[in-house]
Amino acid sequence: MSEKNTALYIHVPFCIKKCPYCDFYSVATLSLKERFVDALLTEISLREDPQSAIDTIYFGGGTPSLLAPREIESILSRVRDHFNLETDCEITLEVNPGTVGPGYFDEIRRFGVNRLNMGVQSLCDEKLGFMERIHSAETAGQALRSARRAGFDKLGFDLIFGLPGETETSWRKDLDRALEFHPEHLSCYMLTYEPGTPMHNELQAGRISPLDDESAASLFKFTSTYLEANGYLHYEISNFAAGPGHRSRHNRKYWDLVPYLGFGPSAHSFDGSTRSWNHADVRRYGDELEQGVLPVAETETLTREQVLIEMVMLGLRTSGGIDIKAFEKISSQGFMEMFKEVARECAARSWAMIVNHRFILTLEGRLFLDTVTSLFAEKIWNR
Ligand code: SF4
Repeated sequence: MSEKNTALYIHVPFCIKKCPYCDFYSVATLSLKERFVDALLTEISLREDPQSAIDTIYFGGGTPSLLAPREIESILSRVRDHFNLETDCEITLEVNPGTVGPGYFDEIRRFGVNRLNMGVQSLCDEKLGFMERIHSAETAGQALRSARRAGFDKLGFDLIFGLPGETETSWRKDLDRALEFHPEHLSCYMLTYEPGTPMHNELQAGRISPLDDESAASLFKFTSTYLEANGYLHYEISNFAAGPGHRSRHNRKYWDLVPYLGFGPSAHSFDGSTRSWNHADVRRYGDELEQGVLPVAETETLTREQVLIEMVMLGLRTSGGIDIKAFEKISSQGFMEMFKEVARECAARSWAMIVNHRFILTLEGRLFLDTVTSLFAEKIWNR
């Protein structure tokens, strides 16, 4: 496995119903699923590249676990026919615990899926009710046990915290329930109110009182220290692994600006300098592929400044920080020469440190990720 191998992302744009806080592209029109799978198979064939070595495949969405095992089998087999898959390829499927019946995990494991990311969100029914999830804590527990029984030894959970009124005590209880399942990976996201979502409208109308900034910051710090005390590595702002080998190989490629291919409506691709993305419209996606046309909505070639900003933005999110040498290779300018004042300010506030040629945010600094990123971006644009 090489860090430079290509990652492959497949966007499955269906959900049983839309959650009120979610702004990912998906529709609840399941009758379009068969047509989507046909179009996806065509897209994979049209974008064939037997030279590129693929070592991670990620089925995201939407709700990829709405795909029947035989649909997953045909998609993976089409990928194998048109790309060069590494033998130890990490193949992850995002699972909504409310969608899986008996035998599902055994079948998908047989077809090659070797890692699951479960959209648990919480193991507390009250929180699940607020988020209008289709599953209960009990259903999530059953799905997790059934995945383990099927032999999955790479299990990740998505959890959401920072709901109105949430306290350290209630969040800790939720985390403890999750830890009883010994997940190899945890993604803990603070609830955000994205413009255009029903929950954002509720907030605007004053029907939801969000957590204040201080409580949100304290929950974020608590999450990090509590999970680290329980043996997890806080290796990216929202991600924790039960050891270095359990970090998401796929997501690390995004953070390291490694090329990736994205298939499906709204999916993005990146070849190292150019980014393109498909139409976020499953009908148009199908129409274009049925005519043998790639459903690309837009393409942009990153300028050197944009690449540098991405390196900063992505690097600051991770525990590895910004790789100063790699940055200087692209910028052709000394890092400290460019960012002397930013580094001084971050050091004075205990937001960052430089270790082994890497500029790394501290836990305190991670609370100010957006501020630090803008300080860097301003210097890059004005250099
Ligand atoms: S199931 Fe996931 S992708 Fe679908 S609406 Fe809910 S949060 Fe969004």
